Amino acid sequence: MIENFVIWLGDELAQAGSSLLDASKRVSVFYLFAGLVFAWLVLTLRYGVQGWTRLKPYLSWRIWWHRSARTDYQLWLANRLLLAILIPKGLTQAIWISWLYFFWQEQGFSDLQLGWPTALVMGLFTLCYFLVDDFSRFIVHWAMHKSPWLWAFHQVHHSAKVLTPFTVFRTHPVEGLLFFLRSMAAQSLVISLFLVAFPNQVSLWQIFGVLVTTFVFNVLGANLRHSGVALSYGPRLEKWLISPAQHQVHHSVARQHYDRNFGVTLAVWDRLFGSWHVGHDDQRIEYGTHQAIDEMNFLGQWLQPFKDCLTLLKLKASCVGRLLYKTLRQKKRPTQ
Ligand SMILES: [Zn+2]
Ligand SMILES: [Zn+2]
Repeated sequence: MIENFVIWLGDELAQAGSSLLDASKRVSVFYLFAGLVFAWLVLTLRYGVQGWTRLKPYLSWRIWWHRSARTDYQLWLANRLLLAILIPKGLTQAIWISWLYFFWQEQGFSDLQLGWPTALVMGLFTLCYFLVDDFSRFIVHWAMHKSPWLWAFHQVHHSAKVLTPFTVFRTHPVEGLLFFLRSMAAQSLVISLFLVAFPNQVSLWQIFGVLVTTFVFNVLGANLRHSGVALSYGPRLEKWLISPAQHQVHHSVARQHYDRNFGVTLAVWDRLFGSWHVGHDDQRIEYGTHQAIDEMNFLGQWLQPFKDCLTLLKLKASCVGRLLYKTLRQKKRPTQ
């Protein structure tokens, strides 16, 4: 029993370590370096040799080994282990897709027989997949800020006092589960619909299109958004894409930055919902929540959200209790 546990633990930790060298993973050395080169190129074009000095936060050992950053690493590993236990291995995307595939057919949805060329179907698939994936991320993130119950868990991500690319893993396992379900639901929805509507036309090429968009996103600074390098995409692109500077605004402790920039790739969702805030290369931002959770290690970060939910529950119960008491008193009051 203990022997099996040690083997499992060793395997999981080895996998976590090897993801640093896996070119398909966002925090692989490859993308960490690509982000640095991308930022250096853009900042050098804008500010000449001075551009290099703006990269300091990305290269500073003090930031990478800050107490807050060490909590990021703890949560990365601890969440990996916990979610490996909580998420059943059999719950693969293939199961979701086949379930939905038969569900659509039961609802009478079938081959559209449009005779479209495969290249067009491929383009449409990539576009739909990207839009549904990006919007579902936006809406779940938006809900995590708007609902006090969900915020209790999402505050873990916002408690980072310094940002490093590993802050992306600074989440509560409950948020990890929610985002796992989101990605399964959103991606399976699009894949299953295309499989039914365009049978025999969904091939590896479509998946390749999705991989290309992920690759471009990762190379063009996905890791910079969780870093101290303020980089906007310039006046034209900033309106359409979430730049690293915009996500850093999202992490700001300043009142005027609360509930701004929920998006991941497209800025249009934030503009539609009125939560968009432009980012600047010269912005100075303080990160964190100014709450005790900012100083907690991974165990505190795991437990505090449950404590906050309990406080919320007590508050709700006392409110409901008071309301019930008032209603009963009014009912008992004799009529004049
Ligand atoms: Zn957030
Ligand atoms: Zn973030």
